[in-house]
Amino acid sequence: MKQITSNEKQSNNRKPSNLKQGTFVCCLFLVIGYLTGCLFLVTGCSKPEVPATKVTSPITKIAITTDLCPSSKPYEAKLFKYLSSLKAPIAVCVSGRWLERHEKELEAIKKLDLDITWVNHSYSHPVSDDFLNNPKVNFRYEVLHNVNVMRNHHLTVSKYFRFPGLRHKKQRLIELAKMGYVNLDADAWLGKGESIKNGSVILIHGNGNENKGVADKFINYLKANKVEIIPLDSLLSKKKGL
Ligand SMILES: [Zn+2]
Repeated sequence: MKQITSNEKQSNNRKPSNLKQGTFVCCLFLVIGYLTGCLFLVTGCSKPEVPATKVTSPITKIAITTDLCPSSKPYEAKLFKYLSSLKAPIAVCVSGRWLERHEKELEAIKKLDLDITWVNHSYSHPVSDDFLNNPKVNFRYEVLHNVNVMRNHHLTVSKYFRFPGLRHKKQRLIELAKMGYVNLDADAWLGKGESIKNGSVILIHGNGNENKGVADKFINYLKANKVEIIPLDSLLSKKKGL
């Protein structure tokens, strides 16, 4: 006959108290479960469940235009190179006087990885007495001679024309349309401190005439924000709701 060891005795002796403890734990779980269920019902009834929404910051879509007005300064190489690193589509508004003085820079720009829309920015870029609005200016010559100068530099001339200083009276717009060209304005002239918004046509000078820091600030903006640079044509079509 098996002898009961002292350990087994102790074990047998503990059985009733273990049973009591087990019953207590079971009851405790039941109570907690019951209370949790009640709490769920109360909160569930008073606050309808709101589906979780993913918060995403919107993308700002812009078109970039950079003006090459006559200048004795070097072009904004850093800006052009940065835009090239993005393979950006940009519009370059060029005056004949700039082309004639900066042919090496023009060749450097052509070698960059940019999809460029070349825009006529007038030949001599008059500024005195209200820019091209000045009645003494031969407007037709400013437009058409620059087309020739651009072509002589092997540029594909687009339909767009940018008025120097963005200054254009109604009569000049009519004359421009008769010559078959389309006025190109801008929404965010960075040198004037205008802010960039979704759908903005950016104007930044690429001829070295911009105030110190404007180009760097723009590059930093492009680095720090969700910005999509889209072709000028696409952006203008969207603006017209096409
Ligand atoms: Zn200009």
